[in-house]
Amino acid sequence: MSLYAVMGYPIGHSLSPEIHEAFGALTGLDVRYERREVRPAGLAEALSAFRAQEGRGANITVPLKGEAYALATRTSVRAERARAVNTLAWQGGGWFGDNTDGAGLIRDLTVNQGWSLQARRVLVVGAGGAAQGIVGPLLDAGIAHLAISNRNPGRARDLVAACRDARVGVADTGVAGASSFDVVINATAAGLSGDLPALPDALFEGAMVYDLMYGPKAQVFLSHARAHGACAVADGLGMLVEQAAESFLLWWGVRPPTGSVLARLRAEVGAA
Ligand code: NDP
Repeated sequence: MSLYAVMGYPIGHSLSPEIHEAFGALTGLDVRYERREVRPAGLAEALSAFRAQEGRGANITVPLKGEAYALATRTSVRAERARAVNTLAWQGGGWFGDNTDGAGLIRDLTVNQGWSLQARRVLVVGAGGAAQGIVGPLLDAGIAHLAISNRNPGRARDLVAACRDARVGVADTGVAGASSFDVVINATAAGLSGDLPALPDALFEGAMVYDLMYGPKAQVFLSHARAHGACAVADGLGMLVEQAAESFLLWWGVRPPTGSVLARLRAEVGAA
């Protein structure tokens, strides 16, 4: 039987095995999916061992997405744009690298949350691997303007330059014109340490606010946004399930239904 896995460090908390096994049950496919702890610089060796066990596909998470991008023999357009790979598929004797994070976010925002992105003014806070993966798909979704703000402003400038799109600009530290954003997306890891990224409170008034993090760690940001007038808030659990569904589609050629899996995980991780 072919084998699938999620690789990263740390990996013990990953919900991916549960998600992919649930997709397997829903689609009638025999899914064998494991967690593998792989430390930085260890991905090439881990993939060789994985291949020897009939490994056919892997989800790649922090901190290995750049390593996976470098190791892939072929990459999708969306992985190229993100310069990061979160999904590897063994194809034609090599690893094909894809990035499903952005597609997962867009599907969660527009289908699960029902937020329209057409002509919206969007602020992405953060310029790390996750932000790299979502900016291209946000632009493709028809937004009017995208501002990127980051604690280290040089990284935000690099991401803006890499977008090569006149709709994208750097938001300065004070996030000038703060109240004019329709959608605010927290793509920072600040919630991991219980921190809030430095943003003006006025930013949240009337905005739709999303945190890529999910469960209790997203609450610091989302509660703050609610308290300052956000009209809707959501955490990244739906993105996690939808990016997994995109990976499943690449590996198995079938898009699994996501509603029941998302509902089950929501009961496990707590409210958004
Ligand atoms: P990276 O380590 O690549 O980047 C971290 C980002 O967070 C940087 O922009 C960094 O700023 C910023 N940051 C970290 N701490 C703080 C802080 N205290 N205050 C302000 N900014 C801070 O991580 P990723 O981009 O890969 O991941 C970011 C988050 O997105 C993670 O929490 C991850 O769990 C989540 N994620 C969720 C997914 C989902 O499916 N729901 C998918 C992918 C990611 P600086 O550059 O200044 O250091």
